[in-house]
Amino acid sequence: MSIAIYPGSFDPLTNGHLDVAMRAARIFDRIIIGVYDTPSKKLMFSPEERVEMACQAVRDIPNIEVQSYSVLTVDFARKVGATVMVRGLRASADFEFEFELAMMTYQMAPDLQMICFLSAPQYQFLSSSLLKEVAQLGGNIDDWVPAPVAQAVKARVATIKRRPL
Ligand code: ADP
Repeated sequence: MSIAIYPGSFDPLTNGHLDVAMRAARIFDRIIIGVYDTPSKKLMFSPEERVEMACQAVRDIPNIEVQSYSVLTVDFARKVGATVMVRGLRASADFEFEFELAMMTYQMAPDLQMICFLSAPQYQFLSSSLLKEVAQLGGNIDDWVPAPVAQAVKARVATIKRRPL
């Protein structure tokens, strides 16, 4: 059985992430979306919330599941028996970073293959950070994230706005 991990922050999972995961799910038997719990980024959601949103988004896809992890990604891959690490590429700046990540991964885990998927054109400029900024400014995010994610982002934005300065 071919097992692939798809690691990332997923703060939150977008339709771009989903597009990549579904492309991978057509090729590999089992995809494990790995939600890294403490990335060095400003986060909107806790690890549990990010996992929950991702679970809801993939609940109808039988060979995609979600787990959180807090160790090195290569160790997470070993733990779940994955031989492939999936990442996504967008039109803009992803290549340099993904290339560095691949080279580091090859050093640390020579048996783990890194495979990048290109998402569909409509998701090529979509990022979690841009999406959160649009939501915070009152823009419509419904086309960019699964419905449960849209709901969660709107609720979080509303609580942030209510907080006193
Ligand atoms: P990380 O913090 O590890 O970059 P992200 O959650 O931002 O985690 O992204 C996880 C992976 O998904 C990365 O490989 C990223 O390039 C890719 N990705 C994110 N958004 C898109 C998109 N719209 N289309 C294709 N790939 C994407």
